[in-house]
Amino acid sequence: MTSKIFDSLKLRAHKNRFENASVRIKKLKTLQSWIKNHESDIEAALYADFKKPAFEAQVTEILFTLSEVKFFIQNLSCWMKDKRVNTPLSLFGHKSYVHYENKGVVLLVSPWNYPFMLTVAPLIAAVAAGNTVVIKPSELTPHVSQLLEKMIKDCFDADDVTLEQGDKEKTTELLGYHFDHVFFTGSTSVGKIVAKSCAERLIPYTLELGGKSPAIIDANANIEEAVRKIQWGKFANRGQACVAPDTLFVHKKIKSAFLAAYKKYDESLKSETPSDIISARHSERLKNLTNNQVDLKSSNTALIDLDDVTQFPKIQEEEIFGPIATVSEFESIEDIRPFYEKNKNPLALYVFSKNTDFIDQVIRNFPSGGVGINTLVVHLANHNLPFGGVGNSGQGRYHGHFGFLEFSHQRAVLKQWGFNFLLEILFPPYTTRKKQAIDWMKKFLT
Ligand code: NAD
Repeated sequence: MTSKIFDSLKLRAHKNRFENASVRIKKLKTLQSWIKNHESDIEAALYADFKKPAFEAQVTEILFTLSEVKFFIQNLSCWMKDKRVNTPLSLFGHKSYVHYENKGVVLLVSPWNYPFMLTVAPLIAAVAAGNTVVIKPSELTPHVSQLLEKMIKDCFDADDVTLEQGDKEKTTELLGYHFDHVFFTGSTSVGKIVAKSCAERLIPYTLELGGKSPAIIDANANIEEAVRKIQWGKFANRGQACVAPDTLFVHKKIKSAFLAAYKKYDESLKSETPSDIISARHSERLKNLTNNQVDLKSSNTALIDLDDVTQFPKIQEEEIFGPIATVSEFESIEDIRPFYEKNKNPLALYVFSKNTDFIDQVIRNFPSGGVGINTLVVHLANHNLPFGGVGNSGQGRYHGHFGFLEFSHQRAVLKQWGFNFLLEILFPPYTTRKKQAIDWMKKFLT
């Protein structure tokens, strides 16, 4: 990207600050229509890149994105309005409000696993908040990246949203510009590189990262239901999802029944065609994690029983990100703590149980970005919930209003409308009467 392009994005971001809601809604509607008119192109690009089944492309990439854009179109006018807040008695004579202002030029760096949805969902929020945007999609999904480039050219002015193709060198080049916000979705290791680069120039950033998300299955859980949901979490997108269950803790009393039910159910679904593992590097990584003992060509998913197998040390440390999960048994939640201490703050935590005390104990003991109780992965589909990590799994949040706020500067405004005799007390000379007045105020205000 040239400095000239960046300067034009800066200038446009300034102009966008004066836009009203209808202008931004028009942009979102253009994007919405484009997606609706190109559904089959999106499906085809996802298939060409890693054989994502059309059904999954519809549900996880198109449906999610379309419902997000609709939610923004319906709510943006309300979100953009200045928000009146109370004014304390000490500031009598003033009114207070929060004014939502764009941040400026935003960089969006996206990953390959949901290459359409994870680019367009933050784009919707960034545009709705009035920012201009530079997108750097993943180099591992070239067909989708090409289609995204066309979408951006068709829907936006070049000085409003632009897309830069490339790999990590391109991200490094882009990070050389003084963006006003960087929104990164990807691995924790690259997240650290992005955070370091932003910190040097105090650029605010959002990190949407991954981690080893545990699923804890209590003795009284409905086994069939837990099996179906967990198998889906490992099957969909070949388990290459940031919120896929990574490590299962199954209560000792039901572990063998759970493993038997999982195997039976998983094998019954053999005919379904799953997505590919994205690249040879990732296949190799998964082979190494499992000492080559999992057939990655099969459409099945695999559970590795860590209570039987101890020779896979790396699988307990690295995010698996594939159609494999490990299983360990537990009797009390203290048995889970050593794992948690090594893999703190995952993006998601799942608990399957009928016991509310147990659920409460799990949630309080093991912080995570989000939680699914007797449910899995779909917590991210509620626009009214924030989506984001904590600590190792990231910082910041988006989806719905949370996305609008993430990409906005929430500016505090205090406006005087009348005489404020209390404020007069602050100004010199500091007389005895004023000191007495302050003492009086302390009685009432503190
Ligand atoms: P990645 O970190 O390898 O790549 C993400 C982006 O960063 C890509 O655009 C890539 O080109 C760029 N990049 C890669 N290496 C870089 C470097 N050294 N310097 C600068 N830029 C670099 O991640 P990925 O393999 O594309 O995605 C998988 C990871 O993303 C997993 O860890 C997963 O958990 C995480 N993820 C998180 C979420 C979320 O919403 N929290 C969603 C999807 C994926």
